[in-house]
Formats: sequence, C-alpha cells, structure tokens
Amino acid sequence: MKHDSGMDTNAGTTGNTVHESYSFACMKCGHGWEQEYEIKHREYADGRPLVVYYANGERVPSPLTRPTCDYCDGHAVRIMRSGRVSTATAALPHH
Ligand SMILES: [Zn+2]
Repeated sequence: MKHDSGMDTNAGTTGNTVHESYSFACMKCGHGWEQEYEIKHREYADGRPLVVYYANGERVPSPLTRPTCDYCDGHAVRIMRSGRVSTATAALPHH
C-alpha cells in the first residue's frame, strides 16, 4: 500500500479506485444533495478508458454526464466537487 501525498488527483493510471464526493443543486426546484461515489478506472478490451461509477454499492451512470434531480427528475443540475474525501490530507495545517 503506497501513499503519495499531493499527487493522487490525476495520476493517469488505470485500474485504481477513488472516492469522490459531489454536491448537487437542482436549478429547477432548488433541491440540494450530496453523494459520494466510488469511481473505478478500467479499460475496455481494446484499451479505451472506461470509468465506472458506483453509489452506495450500485453501479450508476456518470453523475457528470447526466445528473438527475431526485426530487423533480429535472436535469438542470449544478454539480460542485465537494472534495472533502481526497483533499483532507492536503488541508491539514503544517505547524
Ligand atoms: Zn429538482
């Protein structure tokens, strides 16, 4: 188990799993929510990159491609990267 601090955002490697948390806000009804995703970076057999999203253990479509409001089923959803999962270490004050 390797731990690289600060270089884990876009390493360009395949086969790894990251956890990212996004905040969503519906532009239509004002509903807001937050969801943590488990994102697996894989490859198709021909080498094309494949990114698979899981939420609560279930495979879901990419929330960045087609976000849907739970409340009104609208697709005018604003997405904000929460970032609290992967940047927790970098945010620690150093002395
Ligand atoms: Zn809505």
